[in-house]
Amino acid sequence: MEQTVEQKLKALYELQTIHSEIDKIRQIRGELPMEVADLEDDVAGLETRIQKIKFELDDLEDEIVTRKNVIKEALANTKKYETQLNEVKNNREYEAISKEIEIQGLDIQVAEKKIREFGFEITTKNQVYEKALADLEERKGDLEIKKAELGTITSETQKEEEDLLVQAEKAQVNIEERLMFAYNRLRKNAKNGLAVVTIRRDSCSGCFNQIPPQRQSDIRQRKKIIVCEHCGRILVDEQMAMEVEEA
Ligand SMILES: [Zn+2]
Repeated sequence: MEQTVEQKLKALYELQTIHSEIDKIRQIRGELPMEVADLEDDVAGLETRIQKIKFELDDLEDEIVTRKNVIKEALANTKKYETQLNEVKNNREYEAISKEIEIQGLDIQVAEKKIREFGFEITTKNQVYEKALADLEERKGDLEIKKAELGTITSETQKEEEDLLVQAEKAQVNIEERLMFAYNRLRKNAKNGLAVVTIRRDSCSGCFNQIPPQRQSDIRQRKKIIVCEHCGRILVDEQMAMEVEEA
C-alpha cells in the first residue's frame, strides 16, 4: 500500500513525538543519579573531616593531661624543697634549693600557659566540629530526599518508558526503511535528538534559522519531504504538529 507524502510526514512526526517523550524521561532520570552520587561524596568527605577533628581534639586533651601532670609533679617537688629549706646548714645550700623552687615555679607557669593555649584551640576546634556536624546532618537529609525522589521517579517512569517504547515500535511499522534510516541518522547527530521539527515563528525549530516564505509554503503543501537547508532536519508545518498531537 503506497503512502502519500502527507502520511509519511505524519508518521515521522508522530515517531518524533514519542521519541522526544522518551528522551525527556531519560534526561530527568539521568541527572538524579549524579546528584545522589555528588551528595554521597559530600557526606563521605564530611565524615572523614569530622573524624580528623575528633582525633585532633583527643590529642589536645592528652596534651592538657600531660601538662597537668607536669604541674602536679612540680608542686610536689616544691613542697619537698620547701621542707629541705628548713633544714639547710649554710647559705650556699639555701641558694641552691631556692633556685630549684624557682625552676619548679617557672615550669608551672609554662605548663599553665600551654593549658590555656590548648583550651583556646579546643574551643575553636569544637566550633568547627559543630559546624561540620550540622553540615553533615543537612547533607544527609538532602541525600535521603534525593534518593527517595530517584526511587519514585525510576519506578514511575519505568512503566511510562516501556509503554512509549511499544508505541514507538508500532509507529515505526508505518515508516519505510529508507526514511527510518535518514530519521535515525538525524536523531543520532542532533544534540536535542530532534530529526523532525516544525516551523515556528518562520524558523526551523531545530536550529532556529529562518525558512524563506516560498519554502514554508512548499512545506505546508505536504507534497514533498523538505529538509531544513541549515541543519538537514525534516520539516513539518505547525498545523500537522497539532493534528498529530490531537490524534
Ligand atoms: Zn534547521
